[in-house]
Amino acid sequence: NATKVGFIGLGQMGNRMATNLMNKGYKLNVYDISAEACDAMKAKGAEVYKTTQELAKNSEFVVTMLPNNDIVKNTYEDMIKDGVNKNTMFVDSSTVDPTVSQYVQKIVKSAGASFVDAPVSGGVMGAQNATLTFMVGSTPEEFEKVKDFLGGMGKKITHCGTYGMGEAAKICNNMMLAISMIGTAETMNLAIRLGLDPKVFNEIINVSTGRTWASEVNNPVPGLSPGTPPSNDYKGGFSTALITKDLGLAASVATGSNSPILLGGLAHSVYRLLCTHDLGNKDFSVVYDFIKNKTEK
Ligand code: NAD
Repeated sequence: NATKVGFIGLGQMGNRMATNLMNKGYKLNVYDISAEACDAMKAKGAEVYKTTQELAKNSEFVVTMLPNNDIVKNTYEDMIKDGVNKNTMFVDSSTVDPTVSQYVQKIVKSAGASFVDAPVSGGVMGAQNATLTFMVGSTPEEFEKVKDFLGGMGKKITHCGTYGMGEAAKICNNMMLAISMIGTAETMNLAIRLGLDPKVFNEIINVSTGRTWASEVNNPVPGLSPGTPPSNDYKGGFSTALITKDLGLAASVATGSNSPILLGGLAHSVYRLLCTHDLGNKDFSVVYDFIKNKTEK
């Protein structure tokens, strides 16, 4: 399989996703503003491009994995300004506002090529192990064209609807994740203050109606989920800075759609506060450490 893939944004997620594609036999063309990130991919056999325009012209698929709305918008405007190959399929896997995906789809379509949004969940480990979940916003025909390709980087590839609906699914999932993490953290703190043994209580919620991913897989109380960030000083995992970004996107789409998000808005403020306390780089389960009673009763 000598299909050429352009990959733009070789950070925590992108470098691992691009490496998996290379391991599956795709020929990788790469671009990043960081020379270091490019060099690391070059050492693995990728071809480094100096401009995104050249990269796109030499690629059948182009994947972007970039930090935010403005960078995604600017990157696409710049990449397609001198025209594109009609059969290039552009895929944005960054987490951005659905309206950004819809705008980018329009300009790519006007230039004559195709675009789909395909954000991911599963984090750095999912990127590493090619077990990401892809949420795709596209036509059914475009979904068929990208499904197997995305399967080279992920395990579950779901068509969510038209352009922007992949991002909508991603943002809604992460808002729920943030709310349930804070809920688990304050509930665990209360249970402990009431005198319950955290291990016993956690066993109860995990076979009861309070169970969530946050209680069962990544319990914020150190020691309850061995081998996870809460049991390792909240290092690694899904950063507080990234969940704060995603909650900002939720606040924005909620405003745009007149949707009340009482707890989502509160979760955004809680995580913004954690960022001002220098906890942006810690796993988002650190909210437990932030709100727990630090003194004995
Ligand atoms: P990162 O900051 O590690 O990587 C971003 C990369 O983009 C960097 O290498 C940076 O140099 C590069 N970059 C920045 N501006 C650029 C430009 N103009 N042109 C080319 N390259 C540019 O971020 P990440 O953790 O890999 O996340 C990427 C995206 O994936 C974000 O939208 C994030 O929200 C989303 N995401 C991240 C995770 C996660 O756990 N890290 C999980 C799911 C989704």
